[in-house]
Amino acid sequence: MKKIVVTGGAGFIGSHLCDSLIKNGFKVICVDNLITGKKDNVAQYEGREEFTFIKADVAKDKLDLKEINYIFHLASPASPADFSKFPLKIALTNSVGTLNMLKLAKKHGAKFLLASTSEIYGDPKEHPQKETYWGNVNSFGPRSCYDESKRFAETLTYIFLHEENIDARIVRIFNTYGPRMREDDGRAVSNFVTQALKNKQIEVYGDGAQTRSFCYVSDMVKGIKKAMFAKKTRGEIFNLGNSEEYKVIDLAEKIKKRVNSKSKIVFRPLPLDDPERRRPDISKAKKVLRWEPKVSVDEGLRKTIEYYRSLKKN
Ligand code: NAD
Ligand code: UDP
Repeated sequence: MKKIVVTGGAGFIGSHLCDSLIKNGFKVICVDNLITGKKDNVAQYEGREEFTFIKADVAKDKLDLKEINYIFHLASPASPADFSKFPLKIALTNSVGTLNMLKLAKKHGAKFLLASTSEIYGDPKEHPQKETYWGNVNSFGPRSCYDESKRFAETLTYIFLHEENIDARIVRIFNTYGPRMREDDGRAVSNFVTQALKNKQIEVYGDGAQTRSFCYVSDMVKGIKKAMFAKKTRGEIFNLGNSEEYKVIDLAEKIKKRVNSKSKIVFRPLPLDDPERRRPDISKAKKVLRWEPKVSVDEGLRKTIEYYRSLKKN
């Protein structure tokens, strides 16, 4: 049985990735310090031979592991709301933590995947964003702990590919949503759905004209796995996301309608450096990985709303 390390495996995307890898017959070692993840997300595997949970900080703790074949490196808080709560921890997780995971990959001859982000494009001047775009990023602002450390994580991955000859690839994940995003995670979909379900004010930042593209988590997990397991992905970078672009205000209205909520949509100040437009160009992933999202935003929102409704009942 091949052994896979998933860092950040108790988080939102990481836990869905663990589910999928276990279903495929892999042995999964989930490494997570639970800063934004929850043990509950992987509680279903407690006591199972094919799953091990290690509570550890990838930036600080030494991992004493025997024989690993793959490392999916997803550890890092990802919500802009976390950037002001844990800026130093985020910067160190993506820099020192990524360095440690690359060294681990080197030691074991393991294949490596870095979960990078659309944030490395910053407030993009090119639209939609292709992998070849270098970005427009503020190195000295509230989002820079995340954006710049993810950029540095990409640089470290480049160095290890070329100097240490490891087998690595990078996925740049665009906004992803679905069950297991924490209710208080602070991102648009989780906030809007929980506010709508509670008939509380739905808070749109700015005038809501800024755009994002929203990918359902099961599609994202398929893309991440393909980037690791498909042929000819060594040294490659793939944008993964949904290429349907929405204004944030339209997303808020759609969610309000689908929940049948009495909430009022209100406007709050736009956070500093909030990108104005974002949509992935996924032609490379389509061509090389034969991957594209299959779950429509309507279907994904239906499943997500159902999930948050079920939390309210428990
Ligand atoms: P999440 O916060 O739910 O998951 C991150 C997980 O990493 C959590 O379980 C957290 O406890 C763990 N973690 C953080 N720092 C750690 C450390 N130092 N050591 C060990 N574990 C640590 O977020 P998510 O949305 O699931 O994001 C997962 C990955 O995907 C992140 O790398 C993120 O940057 C990337 N990403 C996500 C999105 C998105 O829209 N969800 C978009 C772009 C990139
Ligand atoms: N946003 C919003 N209300 C919220 C949360 C987010 O209007 O309660 C906006 C945010 O300003 C951004 C977009 O929605 O323009 C997406 O935010 P999110 O935090 O989900 O992800 P980002 O793309 O900023 O990383």
